[in-house]
Amino acid sequence: MSIAAAPARPLIDRFGRRVSYLRISVTDRCDFRCVYCMAEEMTFLPKRDVLTFEEIERIAGAFIERGTTKIRLTGGEPLVRRGIMDLVENLGQQVGRGLEELTLTTNGSQLRKYAEGLFAAGMRRINVSLDTLDTGRFASITRRGRLGEVLDGIEAAQAAGLQIKINMVAMRGVNDDEIEPMMAWAHGRGMGLTLIEGMPLGEVGLDRVDSYLPLREMHDQLARRFTLTRMDKRTGGPARYVHVAETGGVLGFITPMSHNFCESCNRVRLTATGQLFLCLGQDDQVNLRDALREGGPAALDVAMDRAMLIKPKGHDFVLDRSREAPAVARHMSVTGG
Ligand code: SAM
Ligand code: SF4
Repeated sequence: MSIAAAPARPLIDRFGRRVSYLRISVTDRCDFRCVYCMAEEMTFLPKRDVLTFEEIERIAGAFIERGTTKIRLTGGEPLVRRGIMDLVENLGQQVGRGLEELTLTTNGSQLRKYAEGLFAAGMRRINVSLDTLDTGRFASITRRGRLGEVLDGIEAAQAAGLQIKINMVAMRGVNDDEIEPMMAWAHGRGMGLTLIEGMPLGEVGLDRVDSYLPLREMHDQLARRFTLTRMDKRTGGPARYVHVAETGGVLGFITPMSHNFCESCNRVRLTATGQLFLCLGQDDQVNLRDALREGGPAALDVAMDRAMLIKPKGHDFVLDRSREAPAVARHMSVTGG
């Protein structure tokens, strides 16, 4: 790994947290409609409001200059944006020049087509979201996806040399019976598995209270059957990792609802329209697109400093039947997972 020189003006917020991780939602569109993520009928952003690749690259460049070492492309489904490989290739050229890692979170539907290109552009590890290995269940969770295509994409990505971590949203009564089989499957193929608690983002087609599965409980259940050893792997994010002796693989738990992880938060999220959200669970944001379009690089820089002054201390997700609206009105596909 290259040792990057300390940036001249690192991005540090009011709580002393250094921002070094940028997630970029390259589109809010998607070929799936996962029940916990989107409504069946979604209204997507008009294309003219969406950042061009050139604008994304300029913003990413400004972040790299100020100490961002990791960029994750997400969405929506990043691989459905037309011409996406142009962006991946251009950002890939920054790897080793301040940027240490360029990565991606994908639903896997387009992976067969793009796996080799992603590797060639400098990606080494990607996250693929997959909640079930059952064809019928997959169709009903994603509403539009085909499991075979995703499995095929995963195979292609591994053949291309990409390391894969599977992300699984754990839902009570939906796929909680598949956690062990998914772990055996993923670990048996040299992939990590990370379980995610559902978060109350946007109105969707799932009862979030009924399906909420506290992962603390799942961890304790698994610990009775498997030898779990806590790993010291820190990502500055909400994931905690254990090594599973019986499978030889790594299991992660993302517990935004039951565990507060905000004190070590090192990330910010750029939406497809250029709003920089400072927290997945809060509305605080600055508009980098307007800053860039109206004032160029200098205004962009000022806007990034302003962002550091308003990054909130933490989220306050609450699941509560008495609330009529979700904790955060925007869908996950807007801010990017
Ligand atoms: N389309 C890509 C995918 O599915 O991997 C990238 C975007 S998706 C919004 C990123 C991640 O967010 C996925 O792993 C998805 O399962 C997760 N996700 C979406 N809505 C969620 C929610 N309400 N709570 C928890 N995770 C969610
Ligand atoms: Fe699309 Fe990913 Fe949301 Fe599923 S989780 S609807 S694949 S953006």
